[in-house]
Amino acid sequence: MHPGVRPILEQLGLGGRIDALASGFHEGIWSEWGGPAHFQSFGSDDGVPWQGFHLWRPDFDTAMLLLAAEAGADVRRGVAVSSIAEEHGAIRHVKTDQGTITARTLIDASGRVRHLARQLDVPYRSRSPRLIARYGYVKGSCPVRDEAPKISGGRDGWTWTAKIRDGLYQWTRVDFNDMANDNWLPTEFQGMAPLSRTRGADVTWRIAERLAGPNWFMTGDAAATLDPTSSRGVLKSILTAMMAGHLADATIGGRLTPLQAASSYHDWLLDWFDKDVKQMKQFYHLLQDATPGMSIDV
Ligand SMILES: Cc1cc2nc3c(=O)[nH]c(=O)nc-3n(C[C@H](O)[C@H](O)[C@H](O)COP(=O)(O)OP(=O)(O)OC[C@H]3O[C@@H](n4cnc5c(N)ncnc54)[C@H](O)[C@@H]3O)c2cc1C
Repeated sequence: MHPGVRPILEQLGLGGRIDALASGFHEGIWSEWGGPAHFQSFGSDDGVPWQGFHLWRPDFDTAMLLLAAEAGADVRRGVAVSSIAEEHGAIRHVKTDQGTITARTLIDASGRVRHLARQLDVPYRSRSPRLIARYGYVKGSCPVRDEAPKISGGRDGWTWTAKIRDGLYQWTRVDFNDMANDNWLPTEFQGMAPLSRTRGADVTWRIAERLAGPNWFMTGDAAATLDPTSSRGVLKSILTAMMAGHLADATIGGRLTPLQAASSYHDWLLDWFDKDVKQMKQFYHLLQDATPGMSIDV
């Protein structure tokens, strides 16, 4: 997590629990991207350094669900959605294996599963070549990675390595030609023991062509995806959900019509995504300019 995520988690009420949930605090990252390796600090406030940190996903998810329940949400787990249908552009009912759920507003936060888009046949617009991120965890010791994570880019792709907690490290590799095989490990982790099989995720930059309707919103990765070098995936999923919540509230309170809420959300998120794409292109161009023969054109 970039340090910028912390104030948002505090705003949501997770403040006192972050230090217990987080690990691998670091004041910046090592970057070898279109030039020699150098340390990029996150900055500081009155001499107190900002710190990035890692969150172990199942623990973070549990903490967030607990917060929602404490705030009065009726949390139901293990419910499979079977169908969602629009009625005059709005969605009133969601059919599940445990009955039909009726709601005034539907917010889809199903990540790369993109449940709502599949049900409504909403297409996605790609803004990069196909990018697959392979990632995994290794156990053991790697002293060079103990102080801070590192990103290094080259002609064929980029690699991220980080210490998550004592004895546990994580890596992500995006190979522009998707040539990485299942046994691939970053050089610095060679000889360490993989915790599980290498996993993969499609991180092609893309955005849904409809991001909201009269009473529904797509948030986080369900709405738009960038590759992990954006370092804002989690932040974006939280902020889009907060925005969807505010707009749903404004609609229910009669301050906005459902169509105004949908179009504000759509325009806001599309604009944010376009700015991110522009920034990401500049970032990749740094690599391209310094790496003759680089095989990606973003
Ligand atoms: C290799 C890799 C490294 C990354 N590193 C970073 C990083 O360092 N920092 C960062 O900020 N971002 C990172 N990201 C991006 C980040 O993980 C995502 O952007 C973020 O998790 C998106 O959050 P989300 O809530 O939208 O979706 P998700 O995190 O995918 O959550 C979706 C949830 O919905 C559930 N779900 C799906 N379908 C249904 C259904 N029908 N019913 C009920 N539940 C359902 C899923 O089980 C899941 O729990 C990385 C991504 C990858 C692939």
